[in-house]
Amino acid sequence: MISIKGLHKQFDQLEVLKGIDLEVGKGKVVVVIGPSGSGKTTMLRCLNVLEIPTKGIISIEGHSLDFSKNVPKKSIALFRRLTGMVFQNYNLFPHKTALENVMEGPVVVKGMDKSKAREKAAALLQKVGLGDKMDYYPSQLSGGQQQRVGIARALAMEPEVMLFDEPTSALDPELVGEVLRVMKDLAQEGMTMIVVTHEMRFAREAADEVIFMDGGVVVERNKPEEIFTNPKEERTRKFLNMIQ
Ligand code: ADP
Repeated sequence: MISIKGLHKQFDQLEVLKGIDLEVGKGKVVVVIGPSGSGKTTMLRCLNVLEIPTKGIISIEGHSLDFSKNVPKKSIALFRRLTGMVFQNYNLFPHKTALENVMEGPVVVKGMDKSKAREKAAALLQKVGLGDKMDYYPSQLSGGQQQRVGIARALAMEPEVMLFDEPTSALDPELVGEVLRVMKDLAQEGMTMIVVTHEMRFAREAADEVIFMDGGVVVERNKPEEIFTNPKEERTRKFLNMIQ
């Protein structure tokens, strides 16, 4: 349901993505690992079209953008709705409450009726365990709670796929678990997810497949039990030895 073909991204002289090919089936959870600077975040940002790929084709549920041609802004805006992005630093609106943060997308982007959006946002905050914190501002919430608001906000747009960019790496260690719990629940409900993370335990427990990226290419992909115990590529082995 998601396919990436020949994805390239260049920043000035720096070629960051050098031809990524990837397919992710509906309801699958893919964890992306790899050294810092290997292009993991850039790949997610290209999928969300926060970065415009230099070339390549991205398809989600039958909607396709071919970046070797000029892609109209309107198509990008529509395509972006197919993905929900969860950022490392939450990116919440500081002057809006948790509830208002979650309502914002449906009201502003989708033109949803405010009372309906409020109801939906409340249900989503309940789902991520923040039913009692709806009227709190981000500054009154812990990092783990803010990130759970971030997840609810992305879900509010009813995306086809959720993209997570190191969602727990800004958190104090004791707050990581509550965010991973919510992510695992989502995975179990059948949400399609692409997750860039250093949480190898999450990868082992929740991923259908692990992708190892290095130098702007996918070096290896396999089931977690295979890639962690029996990596095929030397580069994968070296990376796993360093982090485990
Ligand atoms: P990773 O997520 O694997 O750490 P990134 O995708 O963040 O890797 O970055 C890959 C490379 O692209 C890095 O060298 C980074 O400095 C560069 N890069 C990322 N975003 C930009 C940008 N907006 N402008 C210029 N270079 C960038």
